[in-house]
Amino acid sequence: MSAILNTYNRKKISFKRGKGSFLYATNGKKYLDFVQGIAVNCLGHSNTYLNNAVQKQLKKVWHVSNVFTIPEQEKLAKRLKQKTFADYVFFQNSGAEATEAAIKFARRYFYSKGKTKKNRVLCIKNSFHGRTLATIYASGSKKMTEGFSPKVEGFDHFNFGDHRKLERSITKKTAAIMVETIMGEGGIKIIPDYCLKGLRKLCNKKNILLILDEVQCGIGRSGKFMAYEYAKIKPDIVPIAKGIGGGFPIGAVLVNKKVASGMKPGTHGSTFGGNPLAMSAGNAVLDVMFKKGFLSNVQKNGNFFIKNLNKIQKKFPNVIKEIRGKGLLIGIVLHKNQNNFIDSLMQHNLLTVRAAENVVRLLPPLTVTKKEINLALKIIEKVCEKYK
Ligand SMILES: *Cc1c(COP(=O)(O)O)cnc(C)c1O
Repeated sequence: MSAILNTYNRKKISFKRGKGSFLYATNGKKYLDFVQGIAVNCLGHSNTYLNNAVQKQLKKVWHVSNVFTIPEQEKLAKRLKQKTFADYVFFQNSGAEATEAAIKFARRYFYSKGKTKKNRVLCIKNSFHGRTLATIYASGSKKMTEGFSPKVEGFDHFNFGDHRKLERSITKKTAAIMVETIMGEGGIKIIPDYCLKGLRKLCNKKNILLILDEVQCGIGRSGKFMAYEYAKIKPDIVPIAKGIGGGFPIGAVLVNKKVASGMKPGTHGSTFGGNPLAMSAGNAVLDVMFKKGFLSNVQKNGNFFIKNLNKIQKKFPNVIKEIRGKGLLIGIVLHKNQNNFIDSLMQHNLLTVRAAENVVRLLPPLTVTKKEINLALKIIEKVCEKYK
């Protein structure tokens, strides 16, 4: 009997080590890992450069409080500022903490302007912003909020793609619109560029803040450093997490000057956020990701993967409904429930993870090779053959 609280349907498989795109299980089998900790290990398992950077920091100092100046944190913040819309960065430890901080920052901005009632956040129904009390109610999913009342107030919802409901839901009390640039858990649903542009315009017109949750789709996953870059817009607040630590828990919130003006010493904090050990991982990830050609290679491999998945879809239209994705954030939408399909892929040594709407999510490391993608394609085709 496990002493772990029963909140996951865990697969009965464990791993003793990983290298790059592969995991080696205690059962002796070798798996192609296209989960990567759910889009976390962007450089794959046991990346030598990342390992060395963290080991170097390990011997210097792990943790000091944010009451002191942390040079490694200053460095990572500056680099994120240079490569994004951001003027300032706040470090947390997880995605949910980052999205929750994003909500706090938006409310605080209008509070600081004397608009104390402008504090509601408009979100997409059945999105995913994390598992804290506020973020489950922001996500607006019945499944996630069931049994956790009283409801955390301050969130309104519209359905994905429902522009009319979106506009109708904006009131004087709306402080921000918060959406995932690409919905990950929701089934790899991409907000088209023209909609992101429209959102920006709408927010400007109504004087509300645009929060883009890039916890999953950010940090190179989409093929651009940030997924919003495709739409050529500038958001006001962007929570990030998953990929930035390459496997080390890091969350962060990127904000512009305007939003930053609402915050001052004492208004927010974190014990662990941005400690030197975490920052050494974050800086090492960026060293690799900012190398020339890294992101264009993610785009190239993503396009190759999606193009060939579409070929498989055409061959098995009764199994696969469609392929969704951008960069290496990819979903195979099945006609039926995906659980058996995922188990079959695993029997053939390919690890994947589910998302909503019968989606099988493919999240290879951003360092994946064409050869490894071809291996995955072969396994997926074999499994389609079984389910046709
Ligand atoms: C994973 C995720 C979160 C929550 O991150 P945690 O680290 O699990 O708290 C929030 N938003 C999005 C879009 C995510 O994919």
